[in-house]
Amino acid sequence: ATESEEKDLVIIGGGVAGYVAAIKAGQEGLKVACIEKRGALGGTCLNVGCIPSKSLLNNSHLYHQILHDTKNRGIDVGEVKLNLAQMMKAKDTSVSGLTKGVEFLFKKNNVEYIKGTGAFADEHTIKVNLVDGGETHVRGKNIFIATGSESTPFPGLEVDEKKVITSTGALALKEVPKKMAVIGGGIIGLEMASVWSRLGAEVTVVEFLGQIGGPGMDAEVAKQAQKLLTKQGLKFKLNTKVTAGDAGGEGVKLSLEAAKGGKEETLDSDIVLVAIGRRAYTSGLGLEAIGLETDDRGRLVIDQEYRTKLPHIRVIGDCTFGPMLAHKAEEEAYAAVEFLTKNYGHVNYNAIPSVMYTHPEVAWVGQNEQELKKEGINYKVGSFPFSANSRAKTNLDTDGMVKFLADAETDRILGVHIIGANAGEMIAEGTLALEYGASTEDVARTCHAHPTLAEAFKEAAMSTYSKAIHY
Ligand code: FAD
Ligand code: NAD
Repeated sequence: ATESEEKDLVIIGGGVAGYVAAIKAGQEGLKVACIEKRGALGGTCLNVGCIPSKSLLNNSHLYHQILHDTKNRGIDVGEVKLNLAQMMKAKDTSVSGLTKGVEFLFKKNNVEYIKGTGAFADEHTIKVNLVDGGETHVRGKNIFIATGSESTPFPGLEVDEKKVITSTGALALKEVPKKMAVIGGGIIGLEMASVWSRLGAEVTVVEFLGQIGGPGMDAEVAKQAQKLLTKQGLKFKLNTKVTAGDAGGEGVKLSLEAAKGGKEETLDSDIVLVAIGRRAYTSGLGLEAIGLETDDRGRLVIDQEYRTKLPHIRVIGDCTFGPMLAHKAEEEAYAAVEFLTKNYGHVNYNAIPSVMYTHPEVAWVGQNEQELKKEGINYKVGSFPFSANSRAKTNLDTDGMVKFLADAETDRILGVHIIGANAGEMIAEGTLALEYGASTEDVARTCHAHPTLAEAFKEAAMSTYSKAIHY
């Protein structure tokens, strides 16, 4: 960057929020620069999040299936061996292909990529400590902060990414641990527990709440998921709080306590994964230089148009409010650029899907039963099990169900919850239905191809306002 040139938009952070905003702004003809310190674009998601975790989930599932689920399909396999180094290499290839792809898109859309750490020098100037040494200054008429999030530490357990690991360490272990403890039965905990359990580790997940999957997951679905994951070998300790950890000895010793107080025990393991949530990351940004503050959870405070109290500075993605999801960050990126260039933008926070990529997958959009009950909303329920779906039966993969929650009077869809092999793909239909304000009858009267798992979606909708045919 030349120090004199002023950009229309400078973006700090090249994660999903930052890179999508940069490309979109480039497409709109703005002069854009994006500053990223990690040496690769794509942020947490592409480098140490969504993408590498899905690579390991996919390939560990295949390995597990070859070990346990081939004979009845008429496939006799010989010796099956894990080559963990190659599995990690396959993951790295996917990651680097995608991060380089984003770099190519920057060039295509005239986005200047500045490799370095950005900090506010004043309200319009960012000082950048360059990755390759030296520094530069970039001025922006507008600035987006998109610096993401980091793993929340567990007090008293220092992360070394070998014995005490976060998701980043869990994506790069050099060997399969014998015993692994996981603090937190949220999405990260369960996805990573699945990977290492399939590869041979004995995994125990300790969760403070009475259900797995975090608070968004429908309780009935969470129960089913727990049952199926237990069948695969995972061990769970629910309603249990990890109160302390000691990694001083050979392995790690965790102190556990019943969530409501009382019963205490210890849990020994070779390594421990800390997965108790993520927190907004704004360290080193120099916010104090421009008088911007964060809330009690470290999040930058913004208005409906993503503006801070300095209106030319906007914030998107994990470092501000809302669910910490890549597609939420992406939607905010479009909207924030549109507010800048067209004065309007829109994200429907009621229709953001969530997916847990275990097997079976769990996916949902809209409200769950616990939330509807709490709000006193009069709702009806319809569901359809995959065990009655022809394609699931053909695939010999029949675990799970589709569940609709709809307004008891108007039939308008309020929530869709799916547990099943392709729940993550299928939820797109639920999201579209919710976004368009569809009723369950609208969905059920839409023709779905046969034989597909999507027919379970149709029949679940049908069972909400009428009766399913095949169950
Ligand atoms: P980030 O992706 O964190 O990007 C922020 C970037 O800013 C980083 O690259 C950082 O280096 C850079 N940065 C920070 N400060 C500075 C600075 N001062 N100067 C320059 N650069 C800076 N979400 C999903 O939707 N689906 C999934 O399957 C999924 N899986 C996940 C799995 C794991 C293991 C983890 C940890 C997360 C997962 N997530 C998933 C969440 C997803 O990764 C985040 O929601 C998403 O990355 C948020 O994007 P972001 O751009 O806001 O932040
Ligand atoms: P989370 O908030 O989803 O789950 C953390 C869990 O840890 C909670 O259920 C909480 O009750 C439990 N917990 C906290 N302290 C505890 C203690 N002392 N003892 C026992 N349990 C305790 O957080 P996460 O799983 O770390 O994920 C972080 C973020 O990353 C989430 O926002 C998630 O959406 C995102 N993510 C998404 C995906 C995906 O979309 N597939 C994958 C990975 C991560």
